[in-house]
Amino acid sequence: MSSLRYTWLLILDFAIWIIDTAILEQWYHLRRAGAPCKQNADGSRSKTWEELPNANAADYTAPSISEEQGRAIEQRNLAQVRGLKINNSSIDISTENDKIRNIKIDDARAAIQGTKINDNVIKTIIDVLSEDDSQYLFDEIAVVKEDYRIIMQTDPVKKGTFFDIRLNLNENFLGGKTIDELDSEIFNSKVTVCNSFREAIIHEKYHAKLINGLNQGQLDAIYEELSEINIDGISKTAFKDGNECIAEVGVLFERGETDDLPEEARKIFNKYIGGLL
Ligand SMILES: [Zn+2]
Repeated sequence: MSSLRYTWLLILDFAIWIIDTAILEQWYHLRRAGAPCKQNADGSRSKTWEELPNANAADYTAPSISEEQGRAIEQRNLAQVRGLKINNSSIDISTENDKIRNIKIDDARAAIQGTKINDNVIKTIIDVLSEDDSQYLFDEIAVVKEDYRIIMQTDPVKKGTFFDIRLNLNENFLGGKTIDELDSEIFNSKVTVCNSFREAIIHEKYHAKLINGLNQGQLDAIYEELSEINIDGISKTAFKDGNECIAEVGVLFERGETDDLPEEARKIFNKYIGGLL
């Protein structure tokens, strides 16, 4: 298996698990060994650029960027998303990609049509992301049918040298449940710090924050770097890898419960997201 494909298999977010780590690991290895899953539950392909709202197919050519531009984009991302200051304020690398970011409630509602997912699930997702204007982090919402123990996934969908960020909702977990029922199930989970559906959304938000604005090469690099990090003392989910750790710490960060964080977790959160004292 090529290293690029290997990295691709790593980057699907396994979201929050309501299960024992052994089962998680088993599934994880199966997933890594299997084919990349870039299709919708009904077998259809992910949306192409041309099918996305506001994108002009005729004007689109896959962007190709230099290393220098890549670094500039990363700096812009650090500045915009992670609240860090950069010296060069003249950096202006806007791509067509920027224009289509931002899931809309109507698009999100269209995604759940014909599924068992309650409209309040969509309303809650939009409400939670709106708390700090984070809707821009996700380009689209899709419904998938995955293992029951997955709630959602933050799924980077490759698009030329960039990618879109899709929030996958697992109908097998979310379908037919009220927010109260979801809250209770997540509250009782022993593998995540999340105590509610709202916090599960915040968890996904930090997965998206981590990779927002990166190009495909940077995405591969960041996941490669985080894949071997296993920090204990937060949750089973956080222990899985650095990506999950950052998402779990994001939830604690927003809850104001970061005093007892392991030093290593504090370091990687600050490195990739910033904001922890
Ligand atoms: Zn996750």
